Amino acid sequence: MLRMLVRRFLDAGEIETAAGRALVEERYTALRRQIPIIYVLIAVNLFGLQVASGGVLEFGVNVPSAVAICALFRIAQWLRASDDADHAVMLRRMRQTIWLALAICLFVFLWCHVLIQSREGAVSMDVLLFGSMTAIGAAYGLSPLPAAARLPLLVLALPLAAVSSLSTDLHTVGAALSISVVALLLLRLLAVNNSQFQAVVESRSIIARQQELAEGARQEAIHAATTDFLTGLPNRRAFVAALDAAIAGDSKMASFAVGILDLDRFKVVNDTYGHATGDELLRIASKRLVAAAGKKAVVARLGGDEFGILLPDVHGTAQAQRTADAILAAVCRPADVEGRRFLISLCCGVATAKKASGRSPSRLLADADLALYEAKDRSAGRVAVFEGWMEAPRRRRAQIERALQLADLHERVDLVYQPIIDLNTGQVIANEALARWTDDELGEISPAEFVPIAEQLNVIGDLSDHLMVKAFTEAATWPEPVRLSFNFSAIQLCGQDSAAALLDALDRAKLPTRRLQVEVTETALLRDFDRANANLALLREAGATIVLDDFGAGFASIGYLRKLRFDQIKLDGGLLTAAIDNSDGERLLMAVIGLCDALGVATVAEHVESEEQLKLLVSLGCGAGQGFWLQRPMSAAECRRFSQSSGLVIDTG
Ligand code: C2E
Ligand code: CA
Ligand code: CA
Repeated sequence: MLRMLVRRFLDAGEIETAAGRALVEERYTALRRQIPIIYVLIAVNLFGLQVASGGVLEFGVNVPSAVAICALFRIAQWLRASDDADHAVMLRRMRQTIWLALAICLFVFLWCHVLIQSREGAVSMDVLLFGSMTAIGAAYGLSPLPAAARLPLLVLALPLAAVSSLSTDLHTVGAALSISVVALLLLRLLAVNNSQFQAVVESRSIIARQQELAEGARQEAIHAATTDFLTGLPNRRAFVAALDAAIAGDSKMASFAVGILDLDRFKVVNDTYGHATGDELLRIASKRLVAAAGKKAVVARLGGDEFGILLPDVHGTAQAQRTADAILAAVCRPADVEGRRFLISLCCGVATAKKASGRSPSRLLADADLALYEAKDRSAGRVAVFEGWMEAPRRRRAQIERALQLADLHERVDLVYQPIIDLNTGQVIANEALARWTDDELGEISPAEFVPIAEQLNVIGDLSDHLMVKAFTEAATWPEPVRLSFNFSAIQLCGQDSAAALLDALDRAKLPTRRLQVEVTETALLRDFDRANANLALLREAGATIVLDDFGAGFASIGYLRKLRFDQIKLDGGLLTAAIDNSDGERLLMAVIGLCDALGVATVAEHVESEEQLKLLVSLGCGAGQGFWLQRPMSAAECRRFSQSSGLVIDTG
């Protein structure tokens, strides 16, 4: 109990908690500043007392000199101490201060007591005044450490007043009483001061903690905003910032290369094997890229299956090509995911740049993007480095974009029609509507070029609907059973009410649904397979013929033939060209026709350009054909006349 009281009384603080540590620090810092002053004050006071009391030696020593020597030693110690000392060291020093304060106060009290006992009268008043001034000054100076600050009052001022109150001199007794009152009030003040001090330190420590937490949250937010969740790589934003720094010359690179890499056939893998497999492939590709690019490079995921890479110290096109080739060689190899083997293959477009060149990150990325298109055009797993001539398509694209956004687009885009011919009878089965756009500046622009751009700009919806109504109205003038074959864009196919809107348009044009052929491509299906599937099922149910276009041009996933019911498959022109070129090609074409036959799906060969091709198709049992050799695309009026004719004579002799 007593020990606890003593411990509480002599308490210097604790360092187990953050608030405790903060309190110890604050006390220590304040003490460090004040203690040297206290020692000077004590020494000056004691010398004053020594002089006032007649300058005699007590206990055989000169007390003020002894205290002054001790003071010099402690002052030096405190001045040497630094504010950022270890907490345990601070605590030890403060405990020493408490004990030393106790020792000095006791010693000074004893000296004062001896002085009072040995001399009477005026001296006792001087002793009381000098002694209590020393005590009050020391208490004030030690106030940051209340355990030490109480001691001069309790061990020196009050006992001295008590002893002095026994004096026969009334003045001395009066002074002793008032000093006692002052000392008691000061003790109370110290307690109040201390709790305020603690409260301030505590709230300061809470604020510091909150700031720390806020800083942590800020760092986390920055991390989340600049990191790709799936791969842990920097994201597009961080990559653009790195590019910015490289261009501005903040980094050490004098010249560098920027690459955009794109996984080949990723969408098909993702759609066929699921997103978990796709994600895993992206992770594997990202790890390989980081390893291959080296420590100085910045590898980022720009989004989807696209990665960005910033390669330092790359000078010129040839070095850029070599570096990117080496990276692809290290990355493009098989990977096993969930028991299946996939070939990871990427294309890379690179743009080279120098620091302080004044080019913007978006411009560099656009250059690398153009080079990427070029690489993809060449083949999978290729690298292309940007060169000036690649800009021509960019300029053309910008012009097309502008023209597509002009208000009178509908009036400038027209339709031509190309028949699909029954190769057994020569009769027209259907006419395919093909969009035609002749721009005043750009000349004739192929739908293969402007349709994808219109899709990206989101202007395809209006245009397609306009063309669709036009084609429906035209087709209603053709004799039965000639059908209209219409190419549906991804947006038209994947809208929520696409099928209903289409049936409604047919109704208004008075074209029976059975006279419509819906041509869809694999890429259009990929946009939203489930939606497309649902819309196509509705149209099929209503009597429309569903046609898979360009089979054999892209990935020709046989999976689609299983998942979706098609009535007709259009074999891409490439299959026919290859069949004429070599026997492997012919066997492949035969196998595809056989496969469609087995599935009960009619085949239409596209791009029939010669008599030889036509004969081959007939011999392989292909039911229908379309192409320049049979009939070129023609105007609506020509097509109307042609559809009313008796068709073509197919000479297979
Ligand atoms: P597609 O659906 O495969 O259309 C056939 C393309 O082959 C047409 O090109 C046609 O003119 C061309 N062609 C026909 N016979 C031959 C031939 O013997 N040899 C060669 N080399 N080509 C032949 P076009 O009109 O330039 O259309 C290109 C693509 O644009 C179309 O490919 C189709 O996917 C798309 N497209 C055309 N019109 C529209 C449309 O109104 N809406 C949508 N969404 N897409 C359209
Ligand atoms: Ca087509
Ligand atoms: Ca086609």
